[in-house]
Amino acid sequence: MPYIDMGPSRAEIFSYWKDSFRDIGIFIDWGEPSCWACGFHYGTKYDVKSADASWKTILGCWQKIPLQRCHIVPRSLGGSDGPSNRFLMCRECHDLQPNTPFPDIFFEWVRAQSHIGGESLQKWKKRCGVSELAKTSIENSTKSWNPRSSRLGSMAK
Ligand SMILES: [Zn+2]
Repeated sequence: MPYIDMGPSRAEIFSYWKDSFRDIGIFIDWGEPSCWACGFHYGTKYDVKSADASWKTILGCWQKIPLQRCHIVPRSLGGSDGPSNRFLMCRECHDLQPNTPFPDIFFEWVRAQSHIGGESLQKWKKRCGVSELAKTSIENSTKSWNPRSSRLGSMAK
């Protein structure tokens, strides 16, 4: 029989992790559902429209976005189906994620995928066509977040 994923819903997984993103070392905007690894944003139609949206509305947006409910530790390596072993990612990141029994290695990989870093930032900008304003704030945060970017910048001259 094919494996049917009866695990937690996206809204349940988001509820579980919503206060832990900072501990993991990533930034997730509750109002703009996007991939937890690369930050891929599927477009404003999934965004929370109002600043004072109810919790139910926010959960509804996370429930609708077509992110995959990835296992942090694969089932084949003994990972559970519960929300503590789930992470919402785009298809691309799901394909790339490390096959490891150690959550720490997974989270290290997640931080490395972050759209705040060099090449993937370019890719991300191209994919989503971010506005000038957003671009400026991303570039500013790149400068303060990523010491590599200044080195790459001077090499490019
Ligand atoms: Zn992704």
